[in-house]
Amino acid sequence: MKKKIAVLAGDGIGPEVMQSAIAVLDAVSDKFGHDFSYAKALVGGAAYDKHQEHLPQDTLDVCRQSDAVLFGSVGGPVAEYANLKWKNCETNSILALRKAFNFNINLRKTTIYPELIELSPLKNSQLSTGLDIVIFRELLGDIYFGEHYLGEKNGLRYASDVAQYDELQIKSIAHYAFRTAQTRRKKLISVDKANVLATSKLWRQVVSEVADEYPDVAYSDMLVDNCAMQLIKNPAGFDVILTANLFGDILSDELSVLSGSIGMMPSASFNVDGFGLYEPAGGSAPEIAGQNIANPIAQILSAAMMLAYSFDLQVEANAIEHSIRQVIIQGYRTADLATKAKNEIVLGTREFTNKIIENI
Ligand code: NAD
Repeated sequence: MKKKIAVLAGDGIGPEVMQSAIAVLDAVSDKFGHDFSYAKALVGGAAYDKHQEHLPQDTLDVCRQSDAVLFGSVGGPVAEYANLKWKNCETNSILALRKAFNFNINLRKTTIYPELIELSPLKNSQLSTGLDIVIFRELLGDIYFGEHYLGEKNGLRYASDVAQYDELQIKSIAHYAFRTAQTRRKKLISVDKANVLATSKLWRQVVSEVADEYPDVAYSDMLVDNCAMQLIKNPAGFDVILTANLFGDILSDELSVLSGSIGMMPSASFNVDGFGLYEPAGGSAPEIAGQNIANPIAQILSAAMMLAYSFDLQVEANAIEHSIRQVIIQGYRTADLATKAKNEIVLGTREFTNKIIENI
């Protein structure tokens, strides 16, 4: 299969972990006989240095002409935020890309390997079988996009935020989530607040109609407050979570701490045409950039998601996931995963990546 991938490495650890992801993609294309080409483009502070803007037109054009976008991370040290190079860098880059391509679906994947459960804030007994959850978050509707008012009413300070959804917005992400559940453990929990909110009542109605088209997927609804508790009490009870923008924002951050390191969590965003952008859930980690110690797993798993979702190369994506798993079982760790256990071997970013490639 011939595919062109837009590569936006960005700042901080972005270029290092992107190099790892490309090396793994090259190993996959050699093994399975594909032809991946990479169109590199600047974004974030790296783009600002050359063009005095964080998302130049050239970069948008490269994305438009590609089959998918692999994104690293952007941004500089938090203490240097006032510097024009870093000011609003994330908003001007990643949020502008979301807007430019109308990405309405976001998904994040949380995996805890049994060998790494010690890193999780949860007790071992809750994670004895590991953890593997995908959360789908709608990105373009809900309370973020309704009218916001902050002012006065009846002589009192007053504020309101309007939440809104139409059925098409809900249907679009629901189909995507059910199709994903079909490729996994076939269990989908839709999360809402249907006991109170009108938007959630509509959400529940539409999701249950879509569910009828996927009889092989076990579907149920859960209230968001209960979901926040169950993710801590019984995380193994979840496979695919489907939820609206606000709840997804909060629950996906809750999930990101369960895995023990932000360097493990990949994510993807899609629009209604299926065009996708893939990126690690974490940031540019400027304090460890250039030291060959960043964990490349989130970036490599983002590339694996790209193979599965944008190119329909599930076997190849599984091969990447399996080889990461093997490397962990063999005792290799990056610095953020080190627990000082006896059989652990801590490797640099490049050396850890080579172990993944050896296992492909
Ligand atoms: P961060 O995610 O960059 O770092 C938080 C912590 O996690 C740090 O201790 C960091 O060293 C560690 N970490 C993150 N990724 C890691 C990896 N792959 N391997 C090992 N350790 C890793 O968040 P922050 O420090 O709040 O932000 C730093 C910069 O990143 C800021 O400029 C922020 O705006 C930006 N940021 C960008 C994105 C994005 O590009 N999508 C997302 C979040 C933050």
